[in-house]
Amino acid sequence: MQLNLDTPVQYVPRVGPVMAKRLEKLGVFCASDLLFYPPFRYNDYSQVVPINQLKPNRTVTIKGTVMGMKNIFTKHGKNLQQAIVADDSGQVSVTWYNQAYLAKIILPGADIQLSGHTTWYGQSLTLETPEYEIIPQGNGNRSLHTGRMVPVYPETAGLSSKWLRGRIDFVLTTCLNQVSETTPAEIINQNRLYDLKTAIAQLHFPDNLNNALAARRRLAFDELFFLQLLSFTERRDWEMTQKAPPFTVINKDWQYFIASLPFTLTIDQKNVLEQIRADLEKPVPANRLVEGDVGSGKTVLATAAIYQVVKNGWRACLMAPTEILASQHFETISQFLTPHGISVTLVTGSHKPTNLKTAQVLVGTHALLSEKIVFQKLGLIVVDEQQRFGANQRLALRQKNSGNLIPHLLTMTATPIPRTVARTIYGNLDLSVLDTLPAGRSRIKTWVVPSSKRAAAYDWIQKTLNQQKSQAFIVCPLVEESENLTAVKSVKTEYQRLKTEIFPNLKLGLLHGKMKAKEKNQELDAFRAGKYDILVCTPVVEVGIDIANATIMLVEAAERFGLSQLHQLRGRVGRGDKNSFCLLFTEHSDEKILNRLKNLETTFSGPRLAEIDLSLRGPGDLFGSRQHGIPGLTFASLADTALIAEVQKSAEWLQNTDPALNNFPYLREKLEKSKIKDVSKD
Ligand code: ADP
Ligand code: MG
Repeated sequence: MQLNLDTPVQYVPRVGPVMAKRLEKLGVFCASDLLFYPPFRYNDYSQVVPINQLKPNRTVTIKGTVMGMKNIFTKHGKNLQQAIVADDSGQVSVTWYNQAYLAKIILPGADIQLSGHTTWYGQSLTLETPEYEIIPQGNGNRSLHTGRMVPVYPETAGLSSKWLRGRIDFVLTTCLNQVSETTPAEIINQNRLYDLKTAIAQLHFPDNLNNALAARRRLAFDELFFLQLLSFTERRDWEMTQKAPPFTVINKDWQYFIASLPFTLTIDQKNVLEQIRADLEKPVPANRLVEGDVGSGKTVLATAAIYQVVKNGWRACLMAPTEILASQHFETISQFLTPHGISVTLVTGSHKPTNLKTAQVLVGTHALLSEKIVFQKLGLIVVDEQQRFGANQRLALRQKNSGNLIPHLLTMTATPIPRTVARTIYGNLDLSVLDTLPAGRSRIKTWVVPSSKRAAAYDWIQKTLNQQKSQAFIVCPLVEESENLTAVKSVKTEYQRLKTEIFPNLKLGLLHGKMKAKEKNQELDAFRAGKYDILVCTPVVEVGIDIANATIMLVEAAERFGLSQLHQLRGRVGRGDKNSFCLLFTEHSDEKILNRLKNLETTFSGPRLAEIDLSLRGPGDLFGSRQHGIPGLTFASLADTALIAEVQKSAEWLQNTDPALNNFPYLREKLEKSKIKDVSKD
């Protein structure tokens, strides 16, 4: 069978069905996937040394002939294999342990190449447990496992690095010439990139470490470049094919609505509102992401957009990730809209009203996605904390509209994604940023509290709550990614401890993710009404909760959170006019951990903290694994903003010169393919 890039990996010689199953676990399905499976490091075995020049403690390669091979059992019960290898200059002993089978492979007379570490063995030098490679006659100098930069692959799923190396080399030798270049030559030259074939070859068997890095740079560039092009083309397709109802609103009504709000909008809010208003006036479905730090006032923007749509006789809905948040939005939005004669309806798992047909505005959780709900004349969808929803959930909501007009989409997030990164992963949508907080907010004084100061901190909290007549959150972290039973147990235990031992004179409430939605709402309402002084909770309070009288946020085991997450938690307080505080408890005394947390004492900008997060811990923390829509990248890192900037320049150039990619059929084909994949995931 002729091997080509698309051949299922099972048919690559010496793979077979069993190994193929294991490879599939690594995401390797066909021959070409093997080419893109990256080594995680390289052993530099490129130093070839004559045997008489060997020195101790060096990593070297020798070439010679096997003079003898013995399998030895020592008095102490050890089993070792010892070979004597000679070249023109001399001879040396080579030692392995507990690999008796080697005596059947390494036979006297064979030409052998060995790479490894030299050590003393009694009085003489030996090569200890080296990689070996029998060199067949007439093979020239080609070697795989020795005598060069040797790639090391992660040993998972029962696949050894050596075996993978062999299979990858086979595909390289047979198929590399079939790889077609996808990236335009101009872009390759402009960015001084390897061509694709060179990059793949040098990724696995680089001539030196610099070449390996250059290969990775090229492949990282590709990943980001496709991502960027994908969002550009999606946007183009969208704008060319989709239609939305245009909504205009007369100035007098608009001014009247803005004046009816209980506060003056900030300059940022006004600017973003104008952008949204202009979006909705177009017959193309809007797709805008509003990014704004916690407390920057995004809800009112959503409300104004909803107002604009309803004024035109259409309907709007807002989807929030939790019931708590949905109820809170329902309250706020009703407050803003009822004076204008607009009715708002709440739809959640535990609250399913029947009069949905006549509802003008629906606010809810993903219960809105339920098949029973069909929207007529749905003009606008707002998704709050959009990172909590999958792309498909948003799509599902958007397709619920009957008729061929697509509703406008407005998404909101407090996750401060650095702008360069946002443009890459969300390049298909417009971005608005709220940079400033409403006036009158004071800085939330923040301290990292080591265990030695814990008792004093509790005293201080008690005193401050009494003086300020205010309230506090105490957040216990999730033990696991999901809010499982252990986490609930630990928050319950902590609640008991705090209630009986620490704050016996205060009233404490408890809130965690395993409670029924109704109970959660009751607890939260009670806290809002001042029936509790302290609410002990899991990070369910992380998103969006707005309680003006809460002034203290205490986070337990703060080191488990990313800085951005902590910043979001901190944003739950400081919403009224009282001084507010954030205490980050940690039992760790490690300098590194403390210094990371201390960033919160001095930095109060969400985007800045996100950048620090990104540089310290990579993108995982920033976005959290719960977040949907962040692409899995093999070679590129979203923290590499320099490369991202180069990629964006190139992608823009291509957009301007050949938006339909008529001159780049391979690239177009690759994009088409990945679009199909994109729809079928999550
Ligand atoms: P977020 O952007 O975190 O969703 P919210 O929309 O919940 O923020 O707003 C936070 C708080 O600030 C709310 O109580 C809201 O009423 C208030 N707020 C919003 N805009 C302003 C403003 N321009 N001036 C004063 N308060 C505002
Ligand atoms: Mg919000």
